[in-house]
Amino acid sequence: MSEPEIVNEATEDTRTALALRRPDIPVTLSELAALKGEAIEVIEARVQVLETLRRAAIRATSPEDWILFKSPDEQGGQIVGYLQDAGADRVRDLYGINIFDISKPEKIMGNDPTIFHYLVSGSGRCNLTRQVVEEMEGGRSSTDDFCKGKVGAELELLVRKAARANLDGNITRELAGMKSVPVNQLAEAWVGTKKTIDQCRRGRGFGTRDERVGGASSKAPDVDPPVCPHCGSKGVYRPAKDDRKAFYGCPNYSKHSEKKFIVDAAKWEAEQRAKVNPAPTNAPAATASGPPLSANDVFGNKSREPGSEG
Ligand SMILES: [Zn+2]
Repeated sequence: MSEPEIVNEATEDTRTALALRRPDIPVTLSELAALKGEAIEVIEARVQVLETLRRAAIRATSPEDWILFKSPDEQGGQIVGYLQDAGADRVRDLYGINIFDISKPEKIMGNDPTIFHYLVSGSGRCNLTRQVVEEMEGGRSSTDDFCKGKVGAELELLVRKAARANLDGNITRELAGMKSVPVNQLAEAWVGTKKTIDQCRRGRGFGTRDERVGGASSKAPDVDPPVCPHCGSKGVYRPAKDDRKAFYGCPNYSKHSEKKFIVDAAKWEAEQRAKVNPAPTNAPAATASGPPLSANDVFGNKSREPGSEG
């Protein structure tokens, strides 16, 4: 198999209108102006190549490769997809992205010897668009979800490899424009496949982790609310929003703004239910294996931000 020819330098022969349709051939405004009527065709051809490539690249990814983020309803509620590191691997070759000048991974220790981070930096080039990004960073922590249960050399290697995968992902997302893709572009690229938006993971903007897996709702739990110790008012339930957990607050908080009254709603509800219906001593909650896992234990309690998927 022969390597595809890569045009590194524009020669006289490559400055024709036909050659300039290729997105990898740099073109200046004066060159386009010199083409007169053909300039529009050249620009449209370049756009078409990039759009076709983008659709093909998204089509090559799976719903599992994406995390969806939703802006607040009052800001329009737009949903965009963020391509995770594993998905970036699938689009890198299509864009002809090279990664180079990779630094030695740098280990950053936390206070606890089991908590550390690896950082790595590098540069990238897209051979199709000629775009270059320099000194991008990637990083991962030993506390990330994928590290659960791993120790010693195995943990070291895992975090280091993930930091490098994150660098590759950051470079690819930047050069291929896959950091914030409108959800309808995903849907269009997957037409005719079994891939759907519903299969994508949901991150920030879709409620709390518990709500995303079908737990707590935005309605107040049916237990008596706590009473504000400062003014005696019945606490008012405030549903979870974005990264903030549901809580009870005082309806008259402005009358005693120097004295705060905030009660974690989930904790309060659990305490009230335990009072009414105490757990038997042999319940799973009391065994050596610890309390039953909540959704947060299983899925991690961090909210997912771009660049922090695990
Ligand atoms: Zn009060």
